[in-house]
Amino acid sequence: MRVKFWGVRGSTPTPHPENLRYGGNTSCVEVRIGDSLYIFDCGTGFRALGQQLRSEFNSRNICAHVFVSHFHWDHIQGIPFFGPLYDKPENRFLFHSSSRTRSLKRVMEEQMTSPYFPVDMTEMKAHRAFYDFEEGSMPLDDVVVQGSWLNHPQGCMGFRIETKTGVLVYATDNEPGDPEFDKNVRKLAAGADVLIYDSQYLPDEYIARKRGWGHSHWREAINIVMESGAKELVLFHHDPDHDDACIDNVVKEARNYYPKVRAAAEGMELIL
Ligand SMILES: [Zn+2]
Ligand SMILES: [Zn+2]
Repeated sequence: MRVKFWGVRGSTPTPHPENLRYGGNTSCVEVRIGDSLYIFDCGTGFRALGQQLRSEFNSRNICAHVFVSHFHWDHIQGIPFFGPLYDKPENRFLFHSSSRTRSLKRVMEEQMTSPYFPVDMTEMKAHRAFYDFEEGSMPLDDVVVQGSWLNHPQGCMGFRIETKTGVLVYATDNEPGDPEFDKNVRKLAAGADVLIYDSQYLPDEYIARKRGWGHSHWREAINIVMESGAKELVLFHHDPDHDDACIDNVVKEARNYYPKVRAAAEGMELIL
């Protein structure tokens, strides 16, 4: 399993010089397992992934399972700018998420309707399918994906990806403090090789003024890793106001509690 980060920022893109070492694009993580392609979230990093896939696949067809954790802008804003969706009917994109209020297809299409965007999804030539994905396990090709609800306004789905070679957990946009959701996320992360987890705030920031905003902090990430037996922690969904120096400090401090911690950065790759 190869994992590559295309967008690591939370809330809104932050293309400012002081943020560029970790990166300013919003959530998008690519996972390759053999020849299969899995994508987690379609924030602005999704656009750059599309460019890379176009050059890599050239005239070959692109097929991917795309898991969308929820529909806040920072997780879908790359969709209208993802080139391979426009290219040809032989490209296939299977979207998985839980829409709750109306069909997943409608939720995904509405963000491109007038007056929010100049073209709508009918301009996209690629084959698109939409699958409502609720809690539980789903076998796909050479992998089993498990979903679990997290604690976030309007809901957010965390994902556990299991293969023969390793277990990856992608759990972003989750606030601690609710006993049921706290248990969910620990169960999802149990024994994982790598846990990618929402670490948007500093612990003091969270306590002082960010309760109820639906996000976590690095100290809670460490608690989850230690209580779930996950092996390695990747801090994710960095706050727009946290520059590279701030994130460096977070990693340094977090390593006093648990050694295998790093912060997600655009372009970073992991092999499991
Ligand atoms: Zn988010
Ligand atoms: Zn959100």
